[in-house]
Amino acid sequence: MGATGDYSCLLLTRQSQEREDVINQFLRAWKKPGEPRVQRVYQVVPSPHVKERFDRYALSVGNVRRRFHGTSIECDFGIDLGAPPCESKTCRVCNILSSGFSKRFAGNGPNISLRRLRYGNGIYFSATSGKSNDYAEGSERERRGHAWRCMLVASVAAGKVFKTIEAEILDERLLPPRGYDSVVGEVGPNLNYDELVVYNDAAALPEFLIVYILKA
Ligand SMILES: [Zn+2]
Repeated sequence: MGATGDYSCLLLTRQSQEREDVINQFLRAWKKPGEPRVQRVYQVVPSPHVKERFDRYALSVGNVRRRFHGTSIECDFGIDLGAPPCESKTCRVCNILSSGFSKRFAGNGPNISLRRLRYGNGIYFSATSGKSNDYAEGSERERRGHAWRCMLVASVAAGKVFKTIEAEILDERLLPPRGYDSVVGEVGPNLNYDELVVYNDAAALPEFLIVYILKA
């Protein structure tokens, strides 16, 4: 169903064990006020090129984790069943589905202010789905009286992790710190929820797209 024809998104049925596992992880990892309700889960089958790029990188640095990524979407894919992924170069969700993650979309977008880029020009993930939801406001659509949103679930090759409790690292030359592949902002006095930042487009692979509603 991919616009470029070399990737696809499979709508998982209720019989799918993977669907159940992803939903359970999403709900357990919310850890914030509000009660999301999952409507659909798509499994992403990425293009061979994107998969290969990730596999090669993951093999070289290791430490692969499953993490959440909230971002914006321009089209109604995922929200409206009949809507296919779009081909817009600026639709973040569809670009990630078709071409993988890209630092091109870090910061300076309409929905992510630089203030939120604590650890520089990288690609941001969290183990806390409720935290990633803060970045997903640009995916929100009103349907049948509910606020619908979507969120990506990715495999992220963190490699050697630089852990910090600093609220931010502003010097781009230090990112990632020499000898490290990624930065993890740990929960502490400065940070309420964890963040994992990678600086290589090959370091993450989209695995699922979760479509959910936020109960008022
Ligand atoms: Zn789109």
